[in-house]
Amino acid sequence: MPLKVHHHVSSEMGLFSVTTLVEGTQACILINPPFLIPDAESVIEFIKSKTSKPLVAGINREYDEKVKYWPSVFGKKNVPSDPSLRKPEVFQYSFFLLPGDETSPVCLLGPVQGDSIDHTLFWLPIERTIITGDAVYARSVHAWVEEIETYDVLHAWRLTLKLIGSLNPTTIIPGHIERGWEPDAKKDLEYMHKYLDLFEQKIAKPVFVEGKKKPEVDDLYQTFKKAFPDCEKNLDFFLGKMSNAFGEGGEIWEENCRHPTKDRSRAVLEGFMLEIPKTH
Ligand SMILES: [Zn+2]
Repeated sequence: MPLKVHHHVSSEMGLFSVTTLVEGTQACILINPPFLIPDAESVIEFIKSKTSKPLVAGINREYDEKVKYWPSVFGKKNVPSDPSLRKPEVFQYSFFLLPGDETSPVCLLGPVQGDSIDHTLFWLPIERTIITGDAVYARSVHAWVEEIETYDVLHAWRLTLKLIGSLNPTTIIPGHIERGWEPDAKKDLEYMHKYLDLFEQKIAKPVFVEGKKKPEVDDLYQTFKKAFPDCEKNLDFFLGKMSNAFGEGGEIWEENCRHPTKDRSRAVLEGFMLEIPKTH
C-alpha cells in the first residue's frame, strides 16, 4: 500500500517552512520539523489530526550550525534555548522503509546543492513524490539565494533542479510555500529555474564572471520584487538579506557567513557526476 504524504506550513514568522509527515500502514515519519516553538506546537496538532500511528523518526534534510543564532533572530521564547545542542544522529543508509511498507522505499538523494550546501532530497518512487526541502521554493515565496556565493554553487543548484525534473514527480513538496497555496510540481520547478536565471543575469554573470561593478542594493531589491509579484511576504528577510549580500555597499549578515562555499568547487559540489578517466 502506498505511503501517504501530508504537509504542514509554518507561520509567516516561521517563513512558511514546510514540514512533511509520511504516513505508512503502521507508522510514520516526520521530515524537516519547524524551527520555531509555536510552529512545532502546531505540527503536533497537525500530526494528531492526521494519524494516531507511532512516529518512528524525525529527519532533517540538513543540519545547520546557524541554529545557534536563531534565538537572537527570532526571539528567545520562539526557539529552543540552544538548538545546536540537539545535533541529530547521522543516518547511514541511502534509503529507508517503514514497517509494513517494504515495497514503498523512501530514497535519499544527496548530498546535493539547494539553498545551502549538503541537501538531501527524499524520493518516493512508488508514490512519485519528492520532498525537496530548500532545493525548491514554491512560487509564492522568494527563494533564499543569499548563499549562492560562487558560480559553481549556482551551477550545482540548477543541476539539482534538473535531477528533480528528470524523476518526473507528480508531487513536489517544497521547502517553503505561503499558507493557502498548494504545491504544483510543474509551476514550482519552472519558478525556481526562472529565479535562478534572474540571479544569473543580475548577479552571477556580471559580478562573479565578468567582474563588473555590483548592482545597487535597492536595484536588486526592486528587480526581484517586481519579477515575482506573487511572493508578497517576508520581503525584508528574503530580499533585504539578498540585496545587501550582493548589492554595492550592502550590509553583510556576518552570522550567516558560515558555509564553506568558497572551498567548494564543481568537483566537490557535483562529485556524484562521474567522468571518463583522462588517460583513456
Ligand atoms: Zn527553509
